[in-house]
Amino acid sequence: MTLIVHKYGGTSMGSPERIRNVAKRVAKWARAGHQMIVVPSAMSGETNRLLELAKLVSPEQSTPELRRELDVIASTGEQVSVGLLAIALQAEGMQAVSYAGWQVPIATDVAYTKARIERIDDVRVKADLAAGRIVVITGFQGVDPDGNVTTLGRGGSDTSAVAVAAALKADECLIYTDVDGVYTTDPRIVAEARRLKSISFEEMLEMASLGSKVLQIRSVEFAGKYRVPLRVLSSFTPWDIDLDEEARSGTLITFEEDEKMEQAVVSGIAFNRDEAKISLLGVNDKPGVAHLILGPVADANIDVDVIIQNVSHDGRTDFSFTVHRNDYSRTMDLLKAQVLPRVGASDLLGDPRICKVSIVGIGMRSHVGVASRMFSTLSDEGINIQMITTSEIKTSVVIDEKYMELAVRALHKAFDLEQGLTPP
Ligand code: ADP
Ligand code: ASP
Ligand code: MG
Repeated sequence: MTLIVHKYGGTSMGSPERIRNVAKRVAKWARAGHQMIVVPSAMSGETNRLLELAKLVSPEQSTPELRRELDVIASTGEQVSVGLLAIALQAEGMQAVSYAGWQVPIATDVAYTKARIERIDDVRVKADLAAGRIVVITGFQGVDPDGNVTTLGRGGSDTSAVAVAAALKADECLIYTDVDGVYTTDPRIVAEARRLKSISFEEMLEMASLGSKVLQIRSVEFAGKYRVPLRVLSSFTPWDIDLDEEARSGTLITFEEDEKMEQAVVSGIAFNRDEAKISLLGVNDKPGVAHLILGPVADANIDVDVIIQNVSHDGRTDFSFTVHRNDYSRTMDLLKAQVLPRVGASDLLGDPRICKVSIVGIGMRSHVGVASRMFSTLSDEGINIQMITTSEIKTSVVIDEKYMELAVRALHKAFDLEQGLTPP
């Protein structure tokens, strides 16, 4: 008997009718002889609604005490979903039981609003499965060592599902969503984007970390660490399609690099509008300055992404970096107060209207000239590149936010992503 984990996103759980459809699909899998665990998200829009409510009550949201309460509030969306899905399954004639994160329990650290899963107890769930029950577990939430409810960051239900699959040693984890797989880029931005039948784990990790919201990055990390077979597929196919056909649909995340993948130069394009750029001009060019600038930023728990330091002239240099847009004003305030006087900077410039566009592909390891093709494509469109960063299998550029869609479309075309030159 195989154990399968299904995860359904917000849109897939978006109405009573859709929840009944999810129940029918899950029941189909259970009747075919599979043990089933289902991890649903909150109904679409619900997490935003809850967090918006919290903002209306208290606009100041930076203290740990407040973030604790945000998790109390936001986690309720998933709690409603599991209850609704369990009764929909019961209406299908199945035995089903729902659990909140703390009931499993899904143990996390104490980092409210972005907690990490540390351990999942399998005893209760295993007993239910052995008794023939379908187990419905909340996505997105867990419990810290003191019994406080935590949440895993936006999009975190993906991570819950993969972590549950890893802990219970499931045979496969299927992520059902509102697109029918992982595409060469977000199909909402490029209509010609093409679904990939498979994508390597490393490429998926890059795509997720560079902004493709189809999978939360931590879910991909978990899948890699515990080798969880992972597939992204549509929840909008008719629930009664042939099960084997459904099981082969969508996009499989693969752990083996096959030859076809080696041939693909670029597999996908990711983008991220959530960053802001900060530059300190004319800082002293001497040992320790990067630390003087970024040390206080790190101490304030602010993540830094792209970092660039220019060649110096007359002992002075320019230093730029990006942070999440939510941290932009906090970082600027901190630099003004703590850093500027100590590094001799002549000016501090900030730009929250930037975006990062990245090309990703395992084939970049073995092909030269990929980055230069990216740069010439952007130059042909008159798009100025503000920052560049590369790794073995990706090249990212920071550009003006207003050119984001143009850049993604032009690059999608330039790398022939719609024409089947990448793995089918
Ligand atoms: P869910 O609520 O099911 O978790 P999400 O909205 O989190 O769904 O993720 C699915 C969305 O991810 C799609 O609707 C699509 O717009 C977006 N997306 C971004 N990049 C990609 C990509 N490369 N392939 C497929 N979808 C993508
Ligand atoms: N409901 C949460 C969110 O909207 C978690 C998820 O959907 O994955 O971010
Ligand atoms: Mg999601």
